[in-house]
Amino acid sequence: MIEKRQFYINGGWVDPATPNDFSVIDPSTEEAVAVISLGGQADTDAAVAAANAAFPAWSRTDPAERIAHVEKILEVYESHAEEMAQAMSLEMGAPIDMSRNSQVPSGNWHIENFLTAAREFKFIRPLGPHAPNDRILMEPIGTVAMITPWNWPMNQVTLKVIPALLTGCTMVLKPSEIAPLSSVLFSEILHEAGLPAGVYNMVNGDGVGVGSQLSAHPGVDMVSFTGSTRAGIAISKAAADTLKRVSLELGGKGANLIFADADPKAVRRGVAHCMQNTGQSCNAPTRMLVERSVYDQTVEAAREAAENIKVAPAHDSGRHIGPLVSQMQWDKVQGLIQKGIDEGARLVAGGTGRPEGLNRGYFTRPTVFADVSPDMTIAREEIFGPILSIIPFDTEEDAVRIANDTVYGLTNYAQTQDPARLKRMARQLRAGMVEMNGQGRGRGSPFGGVKQSGNGREGGEWGLEDFLEVKAVSGYPDD
Ligand code: NAD
Repeated sequence: MIEKRQFYINGGWVDPATPNDFSVIDPSTEEAVAVISLGGQADTDAAVAAANAAFPAWSRTDPAERIAHVEKILEVYESHAEEMAQAMSLEMGAPIDMSRNSQVPSGNWHIENFLTAAREFKFIRPLGPHAPNDRILMEPIGTVAMITPWNWPMNQVTLKVIPALLTGCTMVLKPSEIAPLSSVLFSEILHEAGLPAGVYNMVNGDGVGVGSQLSAHPGVDMVSFTGSTRAGIAISKAAADTLKRVSLELGGKGANLIFADADPKAVRRGVAHCMQNTGQSCNAPTRMLVERSVYDQTVEAAREAAENIKVAPAHDSGRHIGPLVSQMQWDKVQGLIQKGIDEGARLVAGGTGRPEGLNRGYFTRPTVFADVSPDMTIAREEIFGPILSIIPFDTEEDAVRIANDTVYGLTNYAQTQDPARLKRMARQLRAGMVEMNGQGRGRGSPFGGVKQSGNGREGGEWGLEDFLEVKAVSGYPDD
């Protein structure tokens, strides 16, 4: 049994004020594999106090010094890549090769891209030639609380910790209690990289405990949150009394518009993307909207693609999807598959229950529903499992209307060879991101949503700006 009960506060590992053991479950076996402690108010207070105390000195460091720290963090992160891959695979069920090839490198990717943005970033800017002695100072907001989910652990942790460090903020990270092992290792990495004491702190805990305490804490200037819309609302309310900034990256219900002139690989690509990480990605294209003239062939191609997806334990090497993260997620996803059947959608692949041969572990069958109408529960709720809903449309206008008919607005996708239509889709789809014809977003592109998908922008220069305040100064001496 792995024992990781301590918290990282003020540059060292400390015992919880009051022990409160919590088991980490391997979702492939349903066995407890590690124990952490859930923190309480005293631990939260200690971490916030350490971050507050470190802020004056850290916020005044030269940006070049902070860049040098992050370069060192990247080097140490790379040297622990295999250990990190094992930790994430164990705690949240990412297949080990996927953990090595996607989960771990998402961290490198963000650290490198933030370094690029920080090297170019102007912390002091002129207002304009009309006001030669005015300057705009971009200043760190202060102590940031970071609350992260379990589905892409290092992706989300690096998207918050790295820009906060580069902008001169101090911080307290509360990772998901379901997947805390990777963040414990990440804290060890930051310690090894030699950050000054108190700049970065980590306390394990759950939402009602440390999560709520950080959100309401008067010593916290900002909460940066990634997770469910439900928790995002609770955090915003808890943060309201102190009027702290709340940056939110929440759920999604991505639409993938397949027009009749889509490239031949679009359907297979769409199914694979929906099911990647066992469907546990906020930007998953879970609604496939298909032009009626190619509807039947698309449903058939999607069925074939889903049936070819292998499901196996996270510890097995090879290309397959793993289990869902927890019993709670498994129950929720099973309930939604049943709801799809009950509400009259046509099941063309998968269904309820575990895949054949897997009797233990939170495994789910890759499932495709056709003839889904936009008002069905499976078309409206974020399922967070390998479940695709196919919805037919007749006209482009229809497709845009159905795509936008959701409370979410994270990522939408469009597949067509028509350049004029691509430009229309880029404009008309209400989302923080639109990805077209399978082309992934470039380095430093901002990740974030609109509507109930949140308000933050993570990555690149926008990801730095999220942690900064704008200060207007007049009478600034000539350079
Ligand atoms: P969750 O909201 O249950 O938990 C996320 C984190 O919030 C955890 O650390 C949890 O302990 C904490 N938390 C829960 N309730 C809280 C409260 N009341 N106050 C303070 N903290 C609280 O979400 P999850 O199940 O871990 O993750 C899945 C969700 O995350 C999905 O909805 C998914 O779409 C979303 N997500 C969004 C993005 C994005 O960038 N938009 C990225 C990944 C995941």
